[in-house]
Amino acid sequence: MNDSILVFKFGGASVKNSEAVQNAIAILKLFPKQKILIVVSAMGKTTNQLELLFNSFYKKDKDAFLSKLNELREFHVDIIDQIFINSEQGEIRSLVTSLFDQITLLYDQDTSENKSKLYDSFVSYGELLSSLILQKAILNSLNESAWADARQLIRTDANFQKANVDWEGTIKNINSICLPQLSTHKIVVTQGFISANKNGDTTTLGREGSDYSAGIFAHALDAKSVTIWKDVPGMLNADPKFFKDTIKLDKISFKEAIELSYYGASVIHPKTLKPLQNKGIPLYVKSFTEPLGSGTKIDIDTSNDRDIPSFIFKKNQVLFSVTPKDFSFLIEANLSDIFLKLSEVKAEINIMQNSALSFSFLIDEDTDKLKDVIEILSPTYLVKYNSNVELVTVRHYDQKTNDFVCKGKTILLQQRTRTTARFVLI
Ligand code: ASP
Repeated sequence: MNDSILVFKFGGASVKNSEAVQNAIAILKLFPKQKILIVVSAMGKTTNQLELLFNSFYKKDKDAFLSKLNELREFHVDIIDQIFINSEQGEIRSLVTSLFDQITLLYDQDTSENKSKLYDSFVSYGELLSSLILQKAILNSLNESAWADARQLIRTDANFQKANVDWEGTIKNINSICLPQLSTHKIVVTQGFISANKNGDTTTLGREGSDYSAGIFAHALDAKSVTIWKDVPGMLNADPKFFKDTIKLDKISFKEAIELSYYGASVIHPKTLKPLQNKGIPLYVKSFTEPLGSGTKIDIDTSNDRDIPSFIFKKNQVLFSVTPKDFSFLIEANLSDIFLKLSEVKAEINIMQNSALSFSFLIDEDTDKLKDVIEILSPTYLVKYNSNVELVTVRHYDQKTNDFVCKGKTILLQQRTRTTARFVLI
């Protein structure tokens, strides 16, 4: 264990404007003696904006493209204007200008190329921009910090938009580049979410993937801990958007956190925990507005896992039910055919169940996916679906919690294990 290295992940909300950036720097000042590797997301909602920009490019709508690009430029330049005094602005302004020049050039790419590859080439700029601005701001205030390009550190395969990490190459890169940087500069700022394949093409780790990046860096560096700085006091037992009386989970195990994120608790990206669990590196989820608060600690200790029931709500779901057209029984052969077809259209199943004649599964509602699923299954199966349903998962349930979540709703499907109850409701 490298006792002196901490990994901090700052998400989009924690760097969404100049005050937020100053607040992130104030947090760093609380750790004057540590070496800190910072993984930062794109500022505010920049990734969503870049997705829109990408859509304009893909439709070859140059006017929309240029106007969206301008909005993004102004958003970043405003932040720079507020953080840096005039005499400090030269270098960061020219770095940011050169990134916007590169984005402008992306418009000339051929849309017949792999769409996911093109997508990654666009959306990666959010993190490049935020990391450069944050690093220069830290350098200004604290006189130390270096910038590292995650595309030279995290090596992946060519599965664009959801790339798989080549651990061996990644660990080698991070150790040879980041360790010396941390020794010299103490604070290193790099990007979450982005990576590259062996040809140097930019890849990404999936939306909200910056948490995972933090897990990868901490694993490679044998860090002492990871802290994800968020706009909530820690991991809560339910999403405060859907639930009034949430309770903070002070301490849970990796296992429990993996289960919660698997079922859809959106506080931590599900892939983040495994690389930490493998090395026993604790993860803290803390509030960036109350950095001295206790937050949530996630580590190997399972003794507190059952203390508080947790509720995970997934709205906007579609429940499919498919039956072989020839009314044959559902056996392994047609189940595997269904899975293959669903994986072909990249449909991700949130819950599934089968009876003699029908296979039911739930996916996130998304019009394109819905179409793809119907199209690929319809030749062989009768396909029925209910849209606008909701999936509720209760960890460490009892009858009271179950009655509470199902009150006034119709249960379309339910499953229970000893620790988890799941309901598809309408
Ligand atoms: N910026 C990326 C996104 O919004 C990655 C992240 O923030 O985790 O999905």
